[in-house]
Amino acid sequence: MANREIHLKSRPHGMPTAANFELVETPVPRPGSGQFLVRNVWMSVDPYMRGRMMDRESYVPPFQIGQPLDGGSVGQVVESKHPGFTAGDYVCGFAGGGWREFYVSDGTMMQKVDPKLAPLQAYLGVMGMPGMTAYTSLLRIGEPKAGETVFVSAAAGAVGSVVCQIAKLKGCRVVGSVGSNDKVRWLLDEAGIEAAVNYRTCGDLLAAVRKECPRGIDIYYENVGGAHLEVALELMNKYGRLVMCGMISMYNDVEPPPGPRNLVYVVGKSLKMQGFIVSDFLDMVPQFFADMGAWVGAGKIKWRETVVEGIENAPQAFLGLFKGDNIGKMLVRLGPDRA
Ligand code: NDP
Repeated sequence: MANREIHLKSRPHGMPTAANFELVETPVPRPGSGQFLVRNVWMSVDPYMRGRMMDRESYVPPFQIGQPLDGGSVGQVVESKHPGFTAGDYVCGFAGGGWREFYVSDGTMMQKVDPKLAPLQAYLGVMGMPGMTAYTSLLRIGEPKAGETVFVSAAAGAVGSVVCQIAKLKGCRVVGSVGSNDKVRWLLDEAGIEAAVNYRTCGDLLAAVRKECPRGIDIYYENVGGAHLEVALELMNKYGRLVMCGMISMYNDVEPPPGPRNLVYVVGKSLKMQGFIVSDFLDMVPQFFADMGAWVGAGKIKWRETVVEGIENAPQAFLGLFKGDNIGKMLVRLGPDRA
């Protein structure tokens, strides 16, 4: 039996391509004392990984050429020499186990997960890092209040779709921006938000969003940057909050684009604009699992997944994030749930 993993072959300049990745076969690693071997069932591809493909200092270290990429994954322990983990346990790993079929862990940054509470892959989505991102930042930075208008970009994605639904649970009026009519329909019919704009076909984005937000915007949840941020600044109400989660439209820019031309509104409208990394809010983890577990159990949060099959297609899944190929969480299935 061999292990297959995806290595970084070269650093992208602009939009990454398949040529930046390489599928490599290696022997299945063996666990030493205090370690266990995991067979991955699911792996995550996330927009932040684009930043790690560049050789620069950041809040996470860059991927190295000739080495496997990394990220979140869920798998099953197949052999253990670790007192805390036994063969058959399902585990979610956050570092050292993504983009490969097998890996050895010493338990660092590993969490056991229960497939009876939620499907395994949900621990990479609504019950995992994207869900926690949405929950913590919307509540702590956005401070949503009933009756307020919340505008969400990339609203049908892993983070955005959860933001939309938590804002609804808090009694807000929610408007999303997305890149396809299928996404618009899903948000309106299933996620239950008030309005959604297809930014690719609406023509004048400012006019389209203004029409759906007749009382202005109280909270802007930023996933995209660029034109979306300018539109939000234009329509923000006094004392509005901008939750700066990500700016995917800029991740492949070779030169940084000029900043929003209307940033000066931050002053006159007394806006709060705050960025964050999800790990800033670790104090909210117990609260997140309690609330999200209850909401998911009660069917109050709906989610979608876009599944790509096989480690060899993981680069394609990753590249799809920048083309809007995913509704909900983009996932790669690496094998059956049970060995
Ligand atoms: P998504 O599931 O939302 O997937 C990315 C989506 O972004 C695509 O489906 C696409 O949807 C949209 N998109 C891609 N390119 C563009 C573009 N040029 N213009 C407008 N929309 C675009 O990803 P995530 O939910 O995982 O991440 C969403 C955002 O949250 C990202 O910016 C990410 O970096 C950020 N993030 C930040 C974290 C933090 O700790 N601060 C943690 C996790 C995520 P569409 O079809 O609608 O265009």
